Amino acid sequence: MDYRVGFGYDSHRLSEGLPLVLGGVSVESSMGCIAHSDGDAVIHALCDALLGAAALPDIGTHFPDNDPAYKGIDSKILLQKTVGLLQQQGWSVNNVDITIVLEKPKLMDYKPKMQQCLSAILNLTAEQIAIKAKTNEKMGFVGKGEGVAVVVAVTIKK
Ligand code: MG
Repeated sequence: MDYRVGFGYDSHRLSEGLPLVLGGVSVESSMGCIAHSDGDAVIHALCDALLGAAALPDIGTHFPDNDPAYKGIDSKILLQKTVGLLQQQGWSVNNVDITIVLEKPKLMDYKPKMQQCLSAILNLTAEQIAIKAKTNEKMGFVGKGEGVAVVVAVTIKK
């Protein structure tokens, strides 16, 4: 069996009064992501990790942020399309390891929902999807509450 590792990163600026969507789940927050799509940094980093593992071009190449077709798009659709691109080359997802760095709110209660949402799209069990959430200890843009950052590692197989 052939295994590959992929790594993805995404960050978004936060602004007052916008919806916050992470891992396909609406998070209760006074601030949300400024973005062309729904700003789901978890799914964007995940897409890039999957594409990287398959050595395919990055998320911005497949779904340009200046294309009106993707304005306000539900990022779950981008993830479905990404999984489809991998499937075309015979790849299936083996496991996913996500770290979300956000100063507030606490995401503990949202993790099971995110796992459930992502497992349905990735065709994985919840046990194959790790989601960690942490703050940046008040340091840098995340620590000041200006943005959210997400890193994701995946393995794929065929
Ligand atoms: Mg993004």
